[in-house]
Amino acid sequence: MISVAGLLAFGFKKLAETSKFQLFGTLATQAKTSEKVIALTYDDGPNPPYTSQLLAVLNRFQVKATFFVIGQQVESHGETAQQIQAQGHELGNHSYSHRPLIMTPKRTLAHEIGRTDRLLQRLGVETPIHFRAPFGYKRIRLPLMLSQLKKTHVLWNVDPRDYEATDSHVVVTHVLEHVRPGAIVLLHDGGGDRSLTIEATAQLIPKLQAQGYRFKTVSELLALQP
Ligand SMILES: [Zn+2]
Repeated sequence: MISVAGLLAFGFKKLAETSKFQLFGTLATQAKTSEKVIALTYDDGPNPPYTSQLLAVLNRFQVKATFFVIGQQVESHGETAQQIQAQGHELGNHSYSHRPLIMTPKRTLAHEIGRTDRLLQRLGVETPIHFRAPFGYKRIRLPLMLSQLKKTHVLWNVDPRDYEATDSHVVVTHVLEHVRPGAIVLLHDGGGDRSLTIEATAQLIPKLQAQGYRFKTVSELLALQP
């Protein structure tokens, strides 16, 4: 028989893994605004040559986006990270090694966050640097540490699952169907060949612009909230 405590623990685990709830600190999955503005976010890079190709697309449409980068990738591809920064996009911290940060000792958590923060600061990124947990996993220890560091935990409310899509059209359609004012869209420039995401981005931007949407970095988007 399942105990009440067991049931509660299971319920909390499920709750902690949904994107909209967090026990401590500030969690952002969207901005509360009626303005037609959204943030495109790209995870798991920098990842040449795809990140640079994506930057060229964003540049063509004069759109600023937010890149949640992995510290190890920044160490390996510093020039690409620098390019993101130099072109005026926002850089966020997506941990150092992209391991799931659940049941993680405090020291390891501090290292995962701190080492990537230091790499980004060396590139000239100003604090506070937003954080996004790998896989969006957050239970108790991570949110507590983020709140102590006064970091906003940024997740998303539109996930077209570009990492498993086989057709850019599916990604574009999902975003167009789910987008609303203040949305934060999850995409990936890291994790192998990201041509599909680049293609989807190039199709999406003009379609969203035609609907009256403008694009902001996550910080700019969150600053619109009262
Ligand atoms: Zn990730």
